[in-house]
Amino acid sequence: MIDHKTIKIWINLYLDGELAGEELELFKQHIKECRECAQILKQQRDFVDSIRSLKDEIKIDFGDFKTELIKQIEEFKPKSSKALKYAVFAIVVVILTISALSALYFYSNRTDFVKIAIENHMRQIRGQLPLEIETSSEGEISNWFDGKLRFNFRLPRYPDPSNQPYRIKGARLVALNNDYAALVSYEMDGRPMTLLVAPSKSASPYGKRKVNFKDIDFYLDTKDGFNILSWTDKGLTYALVFDFENFDWKKPCIVCHSSGAK
Ligand SMILES: [Zn+2]
Repeated sequence: MIDHKTIKIWINLYLDGELAGEELELFKQHIKECRECAQILKQQRDFVDSIRSLKDEIKIDFGDFKTELIKQIEEFKPKSSKALKYAVFAIVVVILTISALSALYFYSNRTDFVKIAIENHMRQIRGQLPLEIETSSEGEISNWFDGKLRFNFRLPRYPDPSNQPYRIKGARLVALNNDYAALVSYEMDGRPMTLLVAPSKSASPYGKRKVNFKDIDFYLDTKDGFNILSWTDKGLTYALVFDFENFDWKKPCIVCHSSGAK
């Protein structure tokens, strides 16, 4: 019998169409038998649908929010000022509702980021999550992510390439709370290592041990035989998953957190 925690993480994968084969069957079976998980699945699906329908209703493209809002208000102008007031009021209510729903939704999902990072790392190792770009070039990976994510993410180059302690294997997008997160696959000392990156508003670092390094709080935890290092920097949350001991984390971390750059 599969546990609820796994199912909760699988819901993201399921809604993104990433579940297949035996896992998909297990998932469907569990949803059929477990009211609690069926309820969570329904909520997540309803949430996406409600956002979509609200967007359709007020015809606002959130990509160009301000311009569209002004346009909407302009459209109501010829009518009486009373109608305009109602229109503005209606739009404000809709926006507040979306914000409240989003806040609630993201808050409930924040603590899952580290768990989702481990799940993705395991799927990566098992070959269930193929890379969408295979390259060891930081530049190629950064370019590949360009325009695919709703946040800016660039992979910095190691300061001294000939002594780089890890090897980049490639990258892909992964589902995270009905949005996309960036996954970068590495190899260090012959062992796999996975980096998951998402906006900090929807993902929080978590770990029992906290270490401050270069003014950033790094959280370290172990779970299911994996080590997880997570942190937030400049609006993005990172989770690094690896299974080896004696991780000299100052070596790879120097890429982004070298003494020169803060
Ligand atoms: Zn369940």
